[in-house]
Amino acid sequence: MDGLFSLAGRSALVTGASAGLGAHFAQVLADAGAQVWLAARRTDRLQALQAELRSRGARAECVALDVTDAASVQNAFDTMAGAGTLPDIVINNAGVGLGTPALSTSEHDWDQVVDTNLKGAWLVATEAARRLSSAGRPGSIVNIASILGERVGTFVAPYAASKAGLIQLTKALALEWARHGIRVNALCPGYIATDINRDFLASVDGERMRKRIPQRRFGEPRDLDGPLLLLAGDAGRYMTGAVVAADGGHLVSGL
Ligand code: NAD
Repeated sequence: MDGLFSLAGRSALVTGASAGLGAHFAQVLADAGAQVWLAARRTDRLQALQAELRSRGARAECVALDVTDAASVQNAFDTMAGAGTLPDIVINNAGVGLGTPALSTSEHDWDQVVDTNLKGAWLVATEAARRLSSAGRPGSIVNIASILGERVGTFVAPYAASKAGLIQLTKALALEWARHGIRVNALCPGYIATDINRDFLASVDGERMRKRIPQRRFGEPRDLDGPLLLLAGDAGRYMTGAVVAADGGHLVSGL
């Protein structure tokens, strides 16, 4: 890809790349010319995607990463450094959802959701920024938040709280790291069919939800391609601390 949205010469780390949106984002970034590091807890789950990307001429590597574990995050960056890469694009995509009433949600459930969606993004972003700023290199961090960080629904209390926290974290880091040339932005998808929500979207409640979306449809992963490339690369070079929704108008509907 030439021009404004080209990522030629860039290296991108995608967390939670073994499934869903993460796998899709990795393909989009690779197609735009970036070398892509696919990260997940188990690298065996990444190998099929790596092979597919390589068969299309992309440069794709795998690295083991549990975003909830600071040592694992450091090891992943050390592994990439050992291969001569310091990623200058980080997509904080790893996330877990949980659809349970607040009163049935255990402390363990809370910790799992908040540790993955919020602490995990913090650990990965700070490790990346520490290394980029020491190297005097600019970078771009895209936090995959959610419209549930801004609106709420039932049975999503820890998830909505974690994503609201991630939006504030995005703004706070953007403010601190502009001086290092590191941009930090949040992409807030609406409802996009993946493993995290497939059952819900197919349910009666999901159908009710669809009718409240102004565009009257759930999203597809490719609906996020433009916003992702805008935030990740130089097309968005004057954007930092931005919170960009791609949701068919769901947020503005207020429903
Ligand atoms: P998914 O469940 O298909 O994928 C989530 C990925 O994160 C998986 O690959 C999983 O293995 C990985 N992951 C979970 N815990 C991890 C950990 N500790 N370390 C490393 N990887 C870990 O879900 P998805 O729909 O593809 O969601 C991707 C992101 O997009 C999430 O942050 C989610 O909250 C966000 N999001 C999704 C939607 C949607 O409608 N699908 C909407 C808004 C936001």
